[in-house]
Amino acid sequence: MMLQGKVVLVTGASRGIGLAIAKALLKEGAKLAITARDPERLGKAQAELEQSGEVLALPGDVADEEAVKAAFMRALESYGRLDGLVNNAGLGLACPVLDTSRADWDRVLAVNATGPFLTCREAVRHMSGNKMGKIVNVASVSGTMGTAMASAYSASKAALIGFTKALAKEVARHGINANCVCPGATDTDMFQKDTLDVLAAKFKMDRAELLKSVLSTVPLRRLLRPAEVADLVAFLLSDKADGITGQVVRIDCGTDIH
Ligand code: NAP
Repeated sequence: MMLQGKVVLVTGASRGIGLAIAKALLKEGAKLAITARDPERLGKAQAELEQSGEVLALPGDVADEEAVKAAFMRALESYGRLDGLVNNAGLGLACPVLDTSRADWDRVLAVNATGPFLTCREAVRHMSGNKMGKIVNVASVSGTMGTAMASAYSASKAALIGFTKALAKEVARHGINANCVCPGATDTDMFQKDTLDVLAAKFKMDRAELLKSVLSTVPLRRLLRPAEVADLVAFLLSDKADGITGQVVRIDCGTDIH
């Protein structure tokens, strides 16, 4: 077990990639604090996850500074330590630039970039005292290559990548590692509902045809499974990744090959 006894806070863990990350971390022996906005769905996830280990549910919005501070305080009160942070909570926005409102832009940047800044700041405050810690920020290939119809989202993930690189350099002397994982299209609500459904409706396209055209840009011609991203995150949180920091690790079925 790669994470035996480690305490990890995972944001956005009530479904999709975050829920898969929570499952993978519990399997590796971690104790978890999990967050998401909808308390009911978070409670259901907690009940499911608790069959495999210790899980504290902390409902709240990652873009809300006070809620973030309160979540870290409660996690530290309960567990007395924090070894890892996974910034997974994210907001997709499938929308042409010309239709993107200022409010939409601000909200996407707030959740995807400001949120991880707020959580990392809390985590580093604690981890630097212990001279150890691992941070994994879930960005996206949209942040490395840009995705049409997702300009605010792409910008927010590029911001997260830049922040993570800077953070890694700054906190290395405290024994803290910070990395980004960049998934490609992954089979979750964000892809199926918030992207495919939205774009198919907006452009009056056949949904199956749209999926086909998305997959034609993916060399392996398939969507990722959330569990595949989760296994990479578990590795980056483990001692096996002690020598990896400031990196942008793509897991994208070949979408953004350099
Ligand atoms: P998802 O299915 O929409 O799930 C998002 C999770 O985050 C949910 O648990 C959601 O719960 C929570 N969340 C959303 N906004 C939040 C907020 N403001 N504060 C706290 N929690 C919040 O998304 P996903 O596809 O699993 O994506 C997870 C991460 O992977 C995101 O950062 C996303 O950008 C990234 N990613 C996804 C894909 C993809 O194709 N799916 C590709 C690349 C990168 P509530 O709604 O209850 O808050």
